[in-house]
Amino acid sequence: MSIVESIARVEEQIAEACRRAMRPRESVHLMAVSKTHPAELIVEAYGCGIRLFGENRVQEFAAKQPALQASGMSSDAASFHLIGPLQSNKSARAAQIFDGIDSVDSVRLAQRLDEACAAAAKRLPILIEIKLSPEATKHGVSPDADELHELLERLPDLKNVMFRGLMAIPPYSDDLEQVRPYFRRLRALRDSLAQKYPALQFDELSMGMSHDFPVAIEEGSTVVRVGTAIFGARPPA
Ligand SMILES: *Cc1c(COP(=O)(O)O)cnc(C)c1O
Repeated sequence: MSIVESIARVEEQIAEACRRAMRPRESVHLMAVSKTHPAELIVEAYGCGIRLFGENRVQEFAAKQPALQASGMSSDAASFHLIGPLQSNKSARAAQIFDGIDSVDSVRLAQRLDEACAAAAKRLPILIEIKLSPEATKHGVSPDADELHELLERLPDLKNVMFRGLMAIPPYSDDLEQVRPYFRRLRALRDSLAQKYPALQFDELSMGMSHDFPVAIEEGSTVVRVGTAIFGARPPA
């Protein structure tokens, strides 16, 4: 299937899930996850109307940037977010090249990003990555960790990063009813944290990938991160 056809199919599934959940289509953003794929495919997806992209690694995206700039694609029109783990020693570079960091999981990283944004005269939206189960992913901050509360308490003072909400990757399962409770848990966590921290904006709930995004939308996702269903299988790591 071509990228244009794949995107049309994903769009159709998003629209159907929104109808089932009685949500307006505009309440869900489609992020095309372009990690491991060349800049030409990003340009192609941009040509099909995609405006939000997810990348996993600082260096990998930096290497694609010259080709993106040369393609004539307007850097103001497209946003690139980092969705992979970020080491604090790469936060300066990340703050320079990305339009958002969706994988913040420590006070230290938030502080480093805040300083890097100040130096780059830039304000960056960020999400906190939540680890929904011990086996789910290696990354993210656990819902009952002190670190999560320290981070949420600290964020209002960090004026160069704008906290927008939560992101999570549930454990993989072919049975989507096994995945649904994780999406519910993230939404419930968001609701309770939003009550506890009224000074913060918890608008975004980034959840759902190629195989499970319709269920994520039914459970309240505002950003689905879709790679394989748009660009095809990734080369093995
Ligand atoms: C790779 C990746 C995705 C996309 O996964 P697909 O299954 O290819 O849609 C989404 N989110 C994160 C954090 C990823 O690393």
